[in-house]
Amino acid sequence: MIKPNISIEECASQIWDVIIVGSGPAGGLAAILLARKKLRVLLVDKQSFPRSKVCGCCLNGNAVSTLEEAGLSHILSENQAVAVREMCLGSKKTHLTFPLQRQMVLSRERLDSSLISEAMIEGAFFLDTTLAELGQLTPSSREVFLKQGDIQILSSAKIVLAADGLGGRLLVRKNITTHLASNSTRLGAGVTILDPPDFFKNGTLFMTSGNGGYVGLVRLEDGRLDLAAAFDPIAIKKHGSMGALAKSLLQEMNWPLPLDIETAPWRGTPALTGHIEQVASERLFVIGDAAGYIEPFTGEGMAWAFTGANFVAPLIAKGVACWEPGLAKQWTLKYKAHITNRQGICKVIAFLLRWPLLVKLGLIGLRAFPFLSKPVVAMLDKPSKAVTSI
Ligand SMILES: Cc1cc2nc3c(=O)[nH]c(=O)nc-3n(C[C@H](O)[C@H](O)[C@H](O)COP(=O)(O)OP(=O)(O)OC[C@H]3O[C@@H](n4cnc5c(N)ncnc54)[C@H](O)[C@@H]3O)c2cc1C
Repeated sequence: MIKPNISIEECASQIWDVIIVGSGPAGGLAAILLARKKLRVLLVDKQSFPRSKVCGCCLNGNAVSTLEEAGLSHILSENQAVAVREMCLGSKKTHLTFPLQRQMVLSRERLDSSLISEAMIEGAFFLDTTLAELGQLTPSSREVFLKQGDIQILSSAKIVLAADGLGGRLLVRKNITTHLASNSTRLGAGVTILDPPDFFKNGTLFMTSGNGGYVGLVRLEDGRLDLAAAFDPIAIKKHGSMGALAKSLLQEMNWPLPLDIETAPWRGTPALTGHIEQVASERLFVIGDAAGYIEPFTGEGMAWAFTGANFVAPLIAKGVACWEPGLAKQWTLKYKAHITNRQGICKVIAFLLRWPLLVKLGLIGLRAFPFLSKPVVAMLDKPSKAVTSI
């Protein structure tokens, strides 16, 4: 268990430099980087940790590089993160295996908890099981309501960082911005399975795309099999459950079925593709999935979350010293240049995945000309420029 190092009552009596809402990869890394800058940081999450999350748990080369450059590679080694050496990509009974270079797998229970522990070591304060809501903007701070059970207090910070994830609506609830979901968006789904078939071996990422969605399967550091999927809502309805749809996708490939694939406690997510209109406002920045997210096929979400934390930290430090409106504009431009643009390729891939037959033809093509897959793998492994700014 990760124990908070402050009580909710103690949070009321001070003005923080930064309150970070959400302790996923985005909020966790931001807390570490900001605490290192000697800022008074309060990291808040509505859940207790360790907590699981619907996620493929694959850190691509970009994400791994960011952790290394931040001096956090021990999080991977100490938790026995698994190196993923190859990806087996299938569709309609055709599959292709190609090498991956720098991908690692680590369960979200361990990754997110380790980031929080590290943030506390660096001097940040962490409060769990606490729901945060934005309050009023004052001339020198932003108010934040913190609710824990029956207790509610008002705290405030010079800057609030929203890292509240895919379903987080911190700014939308306050009418600071609107959320725009794509019309044809799929839903995320995930489960972990305890005693999976040996076919799903350590170090290989299996992905299959078929009628109604796609599913990725990978072994975690403790041997569990993590299944993470993007499903068409209509296909879930047609099959009766998320587990039944996943089963049919694996059957389309003739891959062995985990015994409890249908009965396991699948969890869903809100619509996967969407974004908010504004990623910054006065004394307020947004990073990670809360700012915008594209379907997870290329496994880039955590890299984007880390990149956001990395880029926004210097702007927050400036804003704490002296807020000026230009900082919100700077974040909007940086976000567009380094994250929105990088998400473009994922949008294209997510669109192509709607046609499993096309994916099958693509796989046959790649089998004939394997070098064609190299640019995409290289793009996913390439560190974003943000890494150099740590
Ligand atoms: C099916 C699927 C598979 C995926 N596979 C991969 C993959 O293999 N690799 C990869 O890199 N990415 C993957 N992703 C994406 C990845 O999970 C996300 O991009 C990543 O979790 C984003 O991190 P975050 O910190 O922005 O948000 P989150 O990890 O969602 O964290 C947000 C936190 O905010 C807290 N919170 C929300 N609202 C409040 C509030 N009001 N008050 C207090 N706390 C609050 C939540 O409890 C949560 O802990 C996948 C996603 C899905 C859906």
